[in-house]
Amino acid sequence: MRFPLYNRFMTRSDSTAPASVAPASVAPAIAPANSLDELNHRIIACERCPRMRQHCAAIARERRRQWRDWEYWARPVPSFGDPSARVVVVGLAPGAHGSNRTGRPFTGDGSGDFLYPVLFDTGFASQPESTRRDDGLALADMWITAAARCAPPGNKPTTAELNNCAPWLDREFALLARMRVVVCLGRIGFDAVLSAFLRSGALTSRTGITFAHGAEYRLPDGRFVLASYHPSLQNTNTGRLTKIMFRAIFERARQLAAA
Ligand code: SF4
Repeated sequence: MRFPLYNRFMTRSDSTAPASVAPASVAPAIAPANSLDELNHRIIACERCPRMRQHCAAIARERRRQWRDWEYWARPVPSFGDPSARVVVVGLAPGAHGSNRTGRPFTGDGSGDFLYPVLFDTGFASQPESTRRDDGLALADMWITAAARCAPPGNKPTTAELNNCAPWLDREFALLARMRVVVCLGRIGFDAVLSAFLRSGALTSRTGITFAHGAEYRLPDGRFVLASYHPSLQNTNTGRLTKIMFRAIFERARQLAAA
């Protein structure tokens, strides 16, 4: 397959960012954290979005028939992986009966069933299955996080909720000292990542930076942003995203991490 579709350099001389990008003032500030572990603990306790928190609690009360014996996690889902990772994956938000049930990103639903075998094949995951927090899965050179940490109604966080969650991503990026490549799963994750780099000053504009599967961009500081379709059932069941396409993304991420 031809890869990548795009390969552009982000420059500091581009013009003003579009209005869809959350400026620093929109995102409520949070205190710095000393470690990713501390940050995860604070994320788990977050209550900034009442609609999200109520929705997660309602899902946990109602449960899906096949998971009726589970005690749902039903809290914000902490990030997962290797704190020394060079490759960081940013998804959209927890699935209602996936990570909102299990408490680990992409664990226990169709998206995870598609993602982790690819991560195993490309050497980032210790096993192809991801079923529950204590299943022994470990990641190497990879950290997985999301634009929103709570399961949203209809799988669609509002702009205000994404802005509420944005400071967690800012703090996380600051703590991921070895981060070289950010793989964005879906357009919302892509926008969240660009907004984070705009807020940090790593990027001054996103003019000309567009989402497409396989698109890759280099920041002025040498780090890379790599875009992919999200491994949602909507994309994988229709063939919009295939295993071959997805594997190529992570093979490329590994190449860029070493560049
Ligand atoms: S979505 Fe993010 S900001 Fe909102 S309550 Fe959950 S963790 Fe907090």
